[in-house]
Amino acid sequence: MSLHDLPATLHRLVPLRAEVDLEALRHNVRVLQGRAGAAELIAAIKADAYGHGVIPITRVLVEEGVPRFAVANVPEGVELREAGIEAPVHVLGAPLPEYLPAYARYDLIVTVSSGDVAEAVIEAATKVGPLTAHLKVDTGMHRLGIPPDEVPPVLARLQETPGIEVEGLWTHFATLGDAFTTEQLARFDALVEQLDGIGRAGTHVTNTGTLFLVSGAVQGRAFVRAGGALFGLVDDPAVAAEADDLKPVMRLVSRVVHLQTVAAGETVSYGRTWTADQPTCIATVAAGYGDGLPRSLSNTGFVGIGGRLWPIAGRVCMDMLMLDLGSPEGPGASVQIGDEAVLFGPGGPSAAEVARQAGTITYALTSGLTARVPRLTIGEGSASAIPTPTGAKPDRVSV
Ligand SMILES: *Cc1c(COP(=O)(O)O)cnc(C)c1O
Repeated sequence: MSLHDLPATLHRLVPLRAEVDLEALRHNVRVLQGRAGAAELIAAIKADAYGHGVIPITRVLVEEGVPRFAVANVPEGVELREAGIEAPVHVLGAPLPEYLPAYARYDLIVTVSSGDVAEAVIEAATKVGPLTAHLKVDTGMHRLGIPPDEVPPVLARLQETPGIEVEGLWTHFATLGDAFTTEQLARFDALVEQLDGIGRAGTHVTNTGTLFLVSGAVQGRAFVRAGGALFGLVDDPAVAAEADDLKPVMRLVSRVVHLQTVAAGETVSYGRTWTADQPTCIATVAAGYGDGLPRSLSNTGFVGIGGRLWPIAGRVCMDMLMLDLGSPEGPGASVQIGDEAVLFGPGGPSAAEVARQAGTITYALTSGLTARVPRLTIGEGSASAIPTPTGAKPDRVSV
């Protein structure tokens, strides 16, 4: 039996939870649909919907009219099928040849990421049945894709093979709206112009950043791809300025489980990297790197309690971290055992602030939360009821 199989009622016996606000998600979908215009949204929900819990998230997206989804690999696609989601699902990763029968069996869209993959797809289509393909073009990211000059013959081979439907052509940007984005887009569109019967209307190129910053990446395209924006996750300041109407979906919150006052000269946590310069109130909060919190927040990050931000004192441990609440004569002295401690989201620092302090990005922060953290959905579309100290009504649990 794993943690995933334990009854949801046990989650009230741990202080830490990731609250997932489905109303904020619905709001963000509408913002993205507005940006997409006539293009259809492909919602990137890989890595358990960036750590938010893929099945409840996807159900809400389907209700909001999101027509397509993108995952990283076959098992993530199968998870959606097993949950009864029938919409088209793109698998963005490169297939190894032996994975191709599963694409046919689960009706997943294969990414043709090289000439060799194209040959494997052609062989599989004759053996295991029809496959839907999107061709990925490498315009400068140099992660996956076919170089532009090699695309025309590969595309022709795929198009003449019975049982293969080539539905689209796409590329992926390495930067967000700088001169190299323009260069990648120019390389891509020059190729598309050479190809008969595809046109811009058979293509897709965006991610969150370029959806907001590069109009040529959206207009006239069949689809827009976006993930982070759905969850209100934006790191880049220029994108954040354009996308200021997005709302954070996740709030990571724990509680104070221990309080003490340490004397001047005493140290806190492993390695004794923090020393009290005066008598200091220290709060212990149940959250650590075992939950996915970056250890690089040690002596650097902040946590919200009672509407104020308190600095992390000493090293972040696996299951706990300590906060410097200041002098016993100051406002920190009124913090109580059981008080909410907001790691990120409303009432604490934003996910983008925490990511910056930790030297990472918001996507890595939320997708890095471990299975130990219960995800509790709140808002319309949630199911059962779990009380929280705040009186919010998280009512569906998944881990
Ligand atoms: C994850 C991913 C996206 C979505 O990127 P966001 O910045 O989260 O919007 C788009 N395209 C590809 C290929 C991806 O892997």
